[in-house]
Amino acid sequence: EQLPGVDNDSHQPKQTPAVCWHHCTPTRVSSPTLIAGFSEVAESLGLKPQWQDDRALVEWLSGNRRLDDSMPYAACYGGHQFGHWAGQLGDGRAITLAEITHERQRFDIQLKGAGPTPYSRRGDGRAVLRSSIREFLCSEAMHHLGIPTTRALSLIRTGDKVVRDMFYDGHPERETGAIVCRVAPSFVRFGNFEILAARQETTLLKQFLDFVIRRDFSFLKEQFPNLDDSIDHAVYAAFFAEVCRRTATMIVHWQRVGFVHGVMNTDNMSILGLTIDYGPYGWLDNYDPAFTPNTTDAENRRYRFSQQPAIARWNLVCLANALAAIIDDHEIFRMGIELYDHNLQKGLYDMQCQKLGLSSATQYQTKHLALIQSLYQRLPELNIDYTLFFRQLMSNHPSSADFLHCFYTPTTESSQALQRWLDDYRECLTEGRLEKRAQVMAQANPQFILRNYLSQIAIDHCESGNYDPLNDLMNALRSPYQTINKFDSFYQKRPEWAENKAGCSMLSCSS
Ligand code: AMP
Ligand code: MG
Ligand code: MG
Repeated sequence: EQLPGVDNDSHQPKQTPAVCWHHCTPTRVSSPTLIAGFSEVAESLGLKPQWQDDRALVEWLSGNRRLDDSMPYAACYGGHQFGHWAGQLGDGRAITLAEITHERQRFDIQLKGAGPTPYSRRGDGRAVLRSSIREFLCSEAMHHLGIPTTRALSLIRTGDKVVRDMFYDGHPERETGAIVCRVAPSFVRFGNFEILAARQETTLLKQFLDFVIRRDFSFLKEQFPNLDDSIDHAVYAAFFAEVCRRTATMIVHWQRVGFVHGVMNTDNMSILGLTIDYGPYGWLDNYDPAFTPNTTDAENRRYRFSQQPAIARWNLVCLANALAAIIDDHEIFRMGIELYDHNLQKGLYDMQCQKLGLSSATQYQTKHLALIQSLYQRLPELNIDYTLFFRQLMSNHPSSADFLHCFYTPTTESSQALQRWLDDYRECLTEGRLEKRAQVMAQANPQFILRNYLSQIAIDHCESGNYDPLNDLMNALRSPYQTINKFDSFYQKRPEWAENKAGCSMLSCSS
């Protein structure tokens, strides 16, 4: 089904009322070279590339070559940014090249940094190497952690320079340009619906919603066999409930591994509950619920680690407000949000039980909840590494002496405080569950997370043309739950030198 779009392929910034997308081709780059590609992502598309040798592929993934029948476009969306309605935003530096269907699954293939679109506003439509490496690595790291996300196919060096304001010294710099090709079953965001509602384009909003339900939620056909012919309020209720359910699942995963998205604006919220748009994201090293990697958000800390569940809910309410323009049964939204609250609470509790290797059966709930609460109250002042702590907890008889390597500032007091909690913990561990406990914990607690300083090391080497550290990281992120000795240096807490170094903990918004 074709949605209304504009057929005039111009890059002039403009408002595009009454359409969902704008025809838009990538702008040529001077000498594209492939830095890296994920073959398993290519395979999921039915491709078996000989990466370096496939010039035609590299030209396509750099935006220089267009497939014959393709119609590249930039999508129109709006969004609430940092709590305020921001009007039209849209794909300012992303261009969807094509859709591919393989083994009955469809995927959108999108370039990020391929040049200006009508939605670029004052931006140049380009991306720099460091932010491209960060998106390329992190989306795949998330996938292998078992977290719903967009995927990354390739990373291309364009051969052109990009001018950026480096936030730490304020002087504009010419940086290496790059393009990531990302892949997802859908790139539709909450903001795609919000912009149509804000413009009171209710006919188009309904057309778009029905289109998204039929294309991206086609599994609802099992429940509603007539989906292709008619969509009624029961379908809308199932749709909204599914968005709420998936969003809760995604957030529970983020809290599990210590991922902080950084820019949870409604234009960065996927309708499929995928983690999307990797910018100034971060990972908890020491457990700090206030951790806010985005320098733009340093004052309000709206998108801090501990607030992600509440913000996702706030964003779902924005989506509900937009859809309310065409769905008059508001009970649908009340029930969806209630489902989010329920799944989030239950999901967080189950997840915390898994991280601790405890049973989540109701008869233990009071006891286990108290244990979990006392742990999370203690963790911030212990100044302890979130990832290493839980991996160490997997040992059979954990005692505070085994946790020395997890502390950032080891003191006798923190060791004693930890020991007191470990004593309570051991009382909760029932005999006979030991083996199962190890299994459950090993699946909930990664050994490997993509710490910011690790990415920064790979970025610095890539800038000077050495791609080995990048390739090592690409390998390590493929098995985050397994200890592989070869990559031992990847499994340490953040080193001291990285604590305040640019790029290693705080990052600026768009780059
Ligand atoms: P983000 O904070 O990355 O979600 O971006 C917010 C909006 O700014 C989106 O509409 C982006 O497409 C747009 N944007 C970010 N960087 C650029 C850029 N370099 N050129 C054009 N548009 C951009
Ligand atoms: Mg975005
Ligand atoms: Mg972005």
